[in-house]
Amino acid sequence: MSVAPLNSTVLSFEDARRVVEEQAALILASNVQTKATDSVNLLSAAGRVLSERVVADRDLPPFPRSTRDGYAVRSADLSALPATLEVIGEIKAGERLDRIPDVGRGQTAAIMTGAPVPAGADAVVMVEYSTQRGQQVEITRSVVPGENIVARGAEARTGAALLDRGLRLNDAAIALAASVGKSQVQVYRRPRVAVLTTGDEIVDVEAVPGPTQIRNSNSYSLAAQIQRAGGEPVLLPVAPDEMQGLRRLIEEGLRADLLLLTGGVSMGRYDLVEQVLSEMHAEFFFTGAKIQPGRPVVFGTCGAGAPFDKLRAGSAREGASAPRASTYFFGLPGNPVSTMVTFELFARPMIEALEGQAARKLVFLHARLKTEIRIKTGLKRFLPAMLSGEFENSEVELVAWQGSGDIAATARANCYIVIPADRERMAAGEWIAVMMR
Ligand code: AMP
Ligand code: MG
Repeated sequence: MSVAPLNSTVLSFEDARRVVEEQAALILASNVQTKATDSVNLLSAAGRVLSERVVADRDLPPFPRSTRDGYAVRSADLSALPATLEVIGEIKAGERLDRIPDVGRGQTAAIMTGAPVPAGADAVVMVEYSTQRGQQVEITRSVVPGENIVARGAEARTGAALLDRGLRLNDAAIALAASVGKSQVQVYRRPRVAVLTTGDEIVDVEAVPGPTQIRNSNSYSLAAQIQRAGGEPVLLPVAPDEMQGLRRLIEEGLRADLLLLTGGVSMGRYDLVEQVLSEMHAEFFFTGAKIQPGRPVVFGTCGAGAPFDKLRAGSAREGASAPRASTYFFGLPGNPVSTMVTFELFARPMIEALEGQAARKLVFLHARLKTEIRIKTGLKRFLPAMLSGEFENSEVELVAWQGSGDIAATARANCYIVIPADRERMAAGEWIAVMMR
């Protein structure tokens, strides 16, 4: 057997990422991919992607809201201090409108946080600056109009768009949806992501491995990453390093919304993934990226049969995928850390787009490097690292590892240090980019 007769396209990290972002944008712009939706209870909507706009059903806040416990006053009454005002009532949060007195000149009402500010008052003085005796209160601090009040509708007006279609719901978005009465929200269906591990040496987690066999860890790390990215993993059986068996499983995997292969994309004699996909007339966007780990990563699209939905007995859902001409795939390098890193860098944005999430850029934090790093130039590096320290003292340091097969070291890490391709030394104390995991 020989190495795949492929035109290789090895891109810089930035170019490879741009290619992925372009394809993700195409998915979002077209309605080719499945855009089926589910109605879910708000309590199980965290992490799902909205398929509807959420609008304000009333002004937010619906009344001028006091942000403090104190006294609702006319600010002009406090021009000379201390000022003594007549207390004409007390307004609790939730007070009925017909029980709220108007505040006239020389008057005030005690008011609680979250209560409606009465007509006539234009500010709230915090309780700390007051001494009440009977129906009189002495106030020792002036206020400007509007102080400690949020005006009716200042956060949003009735009918205003609060959350857009394509937004992944986080805790704040859930709170906002709840505040406008959305106990059920419409979200996009999760894309199905097929996982196909390749390699004659790979055995299932439940099997007893022979002395030279390796347990399949990649399918499991990928399943976890897919779920975190919003997808639904579909694990296929492990494919052998043999053309026919591999092809049959690739064909099955192409029925999902996205196919992730791991292993078999390096230059070795039995790395057959690209060769099989070439025979299937796949289009390759790139066949490598100048990164470490993960250099052999492959991205492309290949003709597929009917969508997965239609083939799975009993899963005929309403609004299921329309037949699709081709399916995107990634060939992720088999080394476990390479698999994890290339998923985060390249596969995640495709899953997000397939779910209908609006595009977003990769996020890097910056921290001070604890210990100097010396490295060869030419590849952009994403190396397992430990971010530690609190408050202003965050620092980051590489974990000692044995290379991109070292899962134990990677499990001790909580982030990746990112080193530009043209740097051969990063000095201790330097600010360095960090990608969280
Ligand atoms: P490959 O990319 O097929 O050349 O594999 C590179 C390395 O990753 C080899 O040491 C493989 O044994 C290992 N590997 C490949 N697939 C897996 C997997 N699913 N789980 C754990 N290790 C794997
Ligand atoms: Mg292999």
